[in-house]
Amino acid sequence: MHRTLSTLGALLALSAASAHAQQPGARTAWSGDVCYEVFVRSFQDSDGDGVGDLRGLTQKLDYINDGDPATDADLGATCMWLMPIMPSPSYHSYDVTNYYDINRDYGTLADFRAFMDAAHERGIRVLIDLVLNHISSEHPYFKDALLDRDSPYRDWFVWSPETRPAPGWSAPVWHRVPGRDEYYYGLFWSGMPDYDLANPEVKAELHRVARFWLEDVGVDGFRIDAVGHFFEGPDGEWKHGPGTHAWLREFSSAVERMAPDAFTIGEVWDSIGAILPYYPDQLDAYFMFEVADAVMDAVRTGSGERLVSTVERVEREVPGGRWGVFLRNHDQTRTLTDLRGDVRRAKLAAAIQLTLPGIPFVYYGEELGMTASKSDGDPRLRTPMQWRREPGVGFTTGVPWEPLPADSFTANVEAQEDDPASLLNHYRRLIQLRTGTPALAGDFVPLQTGDPAALAYLRRVEGQTVLVLANLSDRPLTGVELTSPQVLPAGRWVAEPLLGTAADRGEARVRADGRLRGWSPVRTLAPLEARVFLLRSGR
Ligand code: CA
Repeated sequence: MHRTLSTLGALLALSAASAHAQQPGARTAWSGDVCYEVFVRSFQDSDGDGVGDLRGLTQKLDYINDGDPATDADLGATCMWLMPIMPSPSYHSYDVTNYYDINRDYGTLADFRAFMDAAHERGIRVLIDLVLNHISSEHPYFKDALLDRDSPYRDWFVWSPETRPAPGWSAPVWHRVPGRDEYYYGLFWSGMPDYDLANPEVKAELHRVARFWLEDVGVDGFRIDAVGHFFEGPDGEWKHGPGTHAWLREFSSAVERMAPDAFTIGEVWDSIGAILPYYPDQLDAYFMFEVADAVMDAVRTGSGERLVSTVERVEREVPGGRWGVFLRNHDQTRTLTDLRGDVRRAKLAAAIQLTLPGIPFVYYGEELGMTASKSDGDPRLRTPMQWRREPGVGFTTGVPWEPLPADSFTANVEAQEDDPASLLNHYRRLIQLRTGTPALAGDFVPLQTGDPAALAYLRRVEGQTVLVLANLSDRPLTGVELTSPQVLPAGRWVAEPLLGTAADRGEARVRADGRLRGWSPVRTLAPLEARVFLLRSGR
């Protein structure tokens, strides 16, 4: 499914050797992928009960990727992350009651296997959400441990004779056992008791769970929930507790033995500095929340300085592009809402996200500009996918499990399909550009522009260089001049448009020192405009 530019790449490789060129580093095998995050309950309902399901999702796979590189009416994502699909008493399924089955609302294991086959036929790899930090209070093992102090599962959980504070956490973490002067630990709420992951029996069981999904079912990897909260510290610390890294190392080597090509990406919702100790030998990647915030900040404020320094730091500290680059996920206010409904800024944010290093993750509905605010509650962040202008928006023939947003009749696939300037078609172009352009999975080289509103960077692999140019401000920018460090082989370089119109001054001369100096490829950048160029050696 990767649209490669192999002939061109081979030609460029011939001219790429230079004493001044830095050797681009090796990247993860997943850095050319784009992943689409899906909430199965909200994607497509196949049977009219108002709840999305696996058969519905399978019917809609062509929207995500139709498997044909020659078409461009699909998003072209090469990977999906499914939020939890296991049985659970909660609508979101982040509290699991059976780790070896499918949520009955979504279908059966047979439905899931059929979905996997259909996804793989289209070149889509599938990651499932795996919740290892906690279990459901309705899980039979926890219920047994709660009712019987002699239960074999008692030591699977964390108990205390008294409640204790968790400094800095917003809610009680110790929950009283009914009828006893005893408490159990559940960081998120009483319905999610934490596992005692230090217990070898728990570890062995969770390795069995991973084996079941990787070997018996054949998923391509996991998005692992709440990784920063696996272990608690002695004084009530609720994140990054001792034991976390050793546990992850062991889990990752077990996964590697089971399925050497499997991919794992963890949620550590924290700063870059707090995430760095989770490298280099634990999960394959982690979502970089600070970069997401920096992209949003850049398109909101019109200055790219913080974004560039943040990405540079991640690229310097994190090996091989092993991080997730995203705008918003299922726990956050949606992008367009954050940007006060400004579609131009949403387009710019997407153009930056999908041309940065890291592995891009796009939350379903972001490509339509679906709106939702965290302050209205999490279910509003996870409303049904908006397909068509009709009751049920094409998601269901019944009553949707969660009411649709007021703008669902205008922000939907049908309304945007035929408009070349729509957000949806912008996302399609960007995702296809990303998966088809090896340089966009390569190294990140920021350029000097002399103006914080003019964002410019090169993306490179050996044999291919791409220039990204963006105006973060809502005024036209004229005469932006680009200066690069010593990265390009000397000679004449020609800019060919990959996104947006042709350059005004499409040729650059790189001197023997390997630097671009004062090149102004575009006379005027329109407000909030992003352009992408392939830099072809023209000597
Ligand atoms: Ca259904």
